[in-house]
Amino acid sequence: MSGTFVGMPAFPEAARAALGDTQLRHNLAHATGVIRAKRSRLVTEVEESMPESGGWEALRLAGAGVKDRALRDLETQLVLLEERLTAAGATVHWARDAAEANAIVVAVAQRHQATEVVKVKSMVTQEIGLNEALEAEGIDAWETDLAEIIVQLGDDLPSHILVPAIHRNRAEIREIFLREMGKVGKPAPEGLTDEPAVLAGAAREHLREKFLRAKVAVSGANFAIAETGTLVVVESEGNGRMCLTLPEVLVSVVGIEKVVPTWAELDPLLRLLPRSSTGERMNPYTSTWSGVTPGDGPQEVHVVLLDNGRTRALADDVGRQALRCIRCSACLNVCPVYERTGGHAYGSVYPGPIGAILNPLLKGTGDPQTDSLPYASSLCGACFEACPVRIDIPEVLVHLRSKVVDGHRDDTVPKAEAVAFKGAAYALGDSRRLAWAERASGLAGRVMTRFGRTSLPGGRAAAGRVPGPGVGKWTSARDLPAPPAESFRAWWKRTDGGRR
Ligand code: SF4
Repeated sequence: MSGTFVGMPAFPEAARAALGDTQLRHNLAHATGVIRAKRSRLVTEVEESMPESGGWEALRLAGAGVKDRALRDLETQLVLLEERLTAAGATVHWARDAAEANAIVVAVAQRHQATEVVKVKSMVTQEIGLNEALEAEGIDAWETDLAEIIVQLGDDLPSHILVPAIHRNRAEIREIFLREMGKVGKPAPEGLTDEPAVLAGAAREHLREKFLRAKVAVSGANFAIAETGTLVVVESEGNGRMCLTLPEVLVSVVGIEKVVPTWAELDPLLRLLPRSSTGERMNPYTSTWSGVTPGDGPQEVHVVLLDNGRTRALADDVGRQALRCIRCSACLNVCPVYERTGGHAYGSVYPGPIGAILNPLLKGTGDPQTDSLPYASSLCGACFEACPVRIDIPEVLVHLRSKVVDGHRDDTVPKAEAVAFKGAAYALGDSRRLAWAERASGLAGRVMTRFGRTSLPGGRAAAGRVPGPGVGKWTSARDLPAPPAESFRAWWKRTDGGRR
C-alpha cells in the first residue's frame, strides 16, 4: 500500500520539489507552529513550578543521564532484559538487520496462518520495511494510528515522526477516506465532513472490525526496562492499547537502544516525552507489559531485539549520543529547514534534524543520499535547544560532514570545495603567493564593484550567480560579496600603518 523511500534522490534535489509546493509549506508552518507553542507553554510551566530542582534543564540532564547509563552498559542491560522477558513467558529473538527482523515476524504470522496483522505506530517497523515484507508473503499489515492510516490509504510516505501525515490538510484527508476506505474494509460513511472528530470517527469504525478479527498484532516499544523485562508504549488514541491486548499473538520489534536500566529511571523520560512531542503533561495511554499473563491479553508474545546499524552508531564516539533519541520530534518542529522542505526530502522514515544524523549513523556514509543529509542544516542550534535528552545535533552534523569529506579524499575527480581549499592552502603557504593572490582578489573586487549588483547592507557590491563548477552551485543560493579592492597589507604599505 504505502510507498517506500528506496531510490530517493539526495536532499537538495528532493528539497527543491518540496519547496515548490506552497500547500505543503502552509500545512507544515501551521502544524509545527501549533505544536511549538504547546510545548513551549509546558516547558515554561516546568520552569516556574519546580525552580528549586533546576527546572526543565535538570529534567533534560536526568533524561540524557538515563539513556547514557543504558548505552554505556548496553550489553549487560540487553542480556538482563532478555532474561526477564523470557522468565515472564515471552520469546526473545535477536536480529542483526532488517532482513532478519522481517523474517522473524513473517514466520510468526505464518505459523498462525495469519493473512493480516494490526499494527501500533512504530518507527522501527517502518525503518525495516516490515509492511512490504509482510505484503510480499501475502499478509496485509493494517496501520491503526490515525495519521498512519491516512499515509497508508493515501499510498503516501510519512513526513514527520509523530504526525506522519502532517503534510495533509483536513480536506485532503476526507478525500482519501472517501476514495480508499471501501477498497480495504468498511467504507467511509456517506456525508463525511472534514471535521477532525468526524474523520476520527470514520477511522474508528473502519478499524474496529480489523481489531476484532486480527490474530496477530505488531508493535514497537518506546522503552524496554531491563530490570523488570517490561516494554512500554505511549500513544494518544487508544489504538495501541487495542493492538496490545486484543489479538492472541503479539510481536514487538524493539531497537536495542530503547533499553532503560530500571523502572525508576523511566520517570524523567515519561515527563520529557509528552511535553516535547504533543505538548501534553502526560500521555493519554501508557501501556506496559512483561511477557504473557494467562487468560489476559496475548497468549504468545515475541520480542525482536534489533541492531540494524545501532552498534555502528554506538561505536562512533561523537555520534552515539543520537541513540539517546526518544523520537519526540521536538527538533523537527523548531527546524527552519524542515519547516520549509517537509519530511520526504530526507528520504527516510527519520526526517528533520534527527534524521540528518541518524540515517548516516545507522547506514554509514558513502552513499550520495545519506551523504547529503549532514548538510541539510543551517547549524542554527535550535534542535539542540529543543531536544529533551540534550543531543547536540549540530556537533554530530559537523562530525558527519568531516566523515563525508574524508570519504572523498581519494576521488579521481576532486570536488570543487576540495580544489578551492587546496588552492587556499597553496596561496596561504607562502608570503609571495599570498601577495599575488591578494592582487588578483583586489582586481576581482574592482570588477565586481563596477559590474556586480549592489545588494548587501552598507552598499557593498555582490555578485549574483557566478558561472563555473562548484562556485556556480554555491552562488545560486547566496550573494558573493566583492573582495575589498585593496588588501590590508597593501593599505598598510600605502599608509605606513595608517600614519599618512
Ligand atoms: S533528537 Fe531529541 S528532539 Fe529530536 S526527536 Fe530525538 S529526542 Fe526528540
